[in-house]
Amino acid sequence: MRQIHTVACVCTGLTALSVCRNTVAAVVLVGATVIDGLGGALPDATLVIDEGRITCVGDAQTCTVGSADTVHDLRGRYITPGLVDAHVHFAQTGWIDGRPDGIEAPDVYPYAETRAALRADPGRWHRAYLCSGITAVYDVGGAAWTVTDAVSRDTDRPDRTHVRAAGPLITYRSDLNRHYLAGDPTQPMFLPFDSDAQVIANIEHLQSIGAHAIKVWFVPPPAERRAELETRLLLVGQLTRESGIPLIVHATGLADAKAALRAGANMLVHSVEDQPVDAEFLQLLRANDTVYAPTLVVGSGWRRAIASVAVDAPLAIDDPNHCVDAELLDRIQQPGRLRAAAGDGISATAAFKRLEDVGFSRAIMAGNLRAVAEAGGRIVVATDAGNPLTVHGPSIYWEMEAMQAAGLRPDAIIAAATIRGAEAMGLGREMGSLEVGKIADLLVLTEDPRDDIAAFRALSHVMRRGVLFSQAELRNR
Ligand SMILES: [Zn+2]
Repeated sequence: MRQIHTVACVCTGLTALSVCRNTVAAVVLVGATVIDGLGGALPDATLVIDEGRITCVGDAQTCTVGSADTVHDLRGRYITPGLVDAHVHFAQTGWIDGRPDGIEAPDVYPYAETRAALRADPGRWHRAYLCSGITAVYDVGGAAWTVTDAVSRDTDRPDRTHVRAAGPLITYRSDLNRHYLAGDPTQPMFLPFDSDAQVIANIEHLQSIGAHAIKVWFVPPPAERRAELETRLLLVGQLTRESGIPLIVHATGLADAKAALRAGANMLVHSVEDQPVDAEFLQLLRANDTVYAPTLVVGSGWRRAIASVAVDAPLAIDDPNHCVDAELLDRIQQPGRLRAAAGDGISATAAFKRLEDVGFSRAIMAGNLRAVAEAGGRIVVATDAGNPLTVHGPSIYWEMEAMQAAGLRPDAIIAAATIRGAEAMGLGREMGSLEVGKIADLLVLTEDPRDDIAAFRALSHVMRRGVLFSQAELRNR
């Protein structure tokens, strides 16, 4: 592989950031093919970055290089916008220790300790994202600290991704808080959905703490409550429209997803996975211009995690760029520690039966993704990172490759992973494409992602807010 040739001063690495900002006139990337995220591509391009923003994109005649500029020769490489993961959870780890409602194991992984560790070091996930080429994430649900702590503020730093965070989920299953409070009643994961007054108060509360969206966790309601809860969802839609805050909804059944669309949901955070979508669904989705986040791989991660506990079989993590830290890998590689806590509820037979069902739901989700794409729907790349075995960072490669396997073309996936994600986060004017005036968040690849979306694994550099890191600098192990 060709070494990047640097003409003037080199400013990379976290320790050099303040020095860089003060001494470099501009950073210029020359010779690469620039894939702008909007469907365009320019070979042998010159890209100029100044004060963290793109100031010129064009050929060598259009974009001139100053004598004091730092020039990187990137011939033979490909530059894309940074990736956007439009569905993550800072309050989850990527293993079962972060989901006590799945397997509660207070003797092995006390949840109060897990939460304290998550809250103390959100930079852990920022590092895993940047290491994998992700420069912006949408946290679509978690305890209030995911909104109020520095995790979702302070994100202008070059060692942080952009973050938008929804905070606690509104749901009729707020009883599940019993797994999450762990001695701290100030950090519920769920807010109740059982009366109109509760919902009005919850939305006001979420706005007061600075939530960027209102998330309703609309898991399938019992038949006798469906009419009541669908009507209340319409109220949430009305209130969020009036207040100008986006409404995002978890609804994986077709009936539930249609209820969300009738309420005016701005984003469905998962695929419809129980049956093929119909004409009414597609019409509602298009009429609202609702964002559709397929999350194809998270379900198999959950099922594989449970199976690995059931038979005490550690699973390998596909992490080509070494972005998962050793502590998390250690937990994943010791599933037997959770075996006793799982009890008789998780037999190997049941676990393997659930694994077999992955193929069915994946086929439904793939068909629905194609249907949404053919209808001109607004699709984003979204992993649900933080769930068991859907690890923060590299899971974005798995998700994009699953979208490709489902039949989407690479150019459509590149748009979904960049500008569409930025727009879903309300940041489409600031980032998501390589255009003059936008924040310089970009990736350097050694292979062409227009041929095969797996080229995002071939990541040589990540630029965040104008600061260029080699991928090796960003590794977590
Ligand atoms: Zn999620």
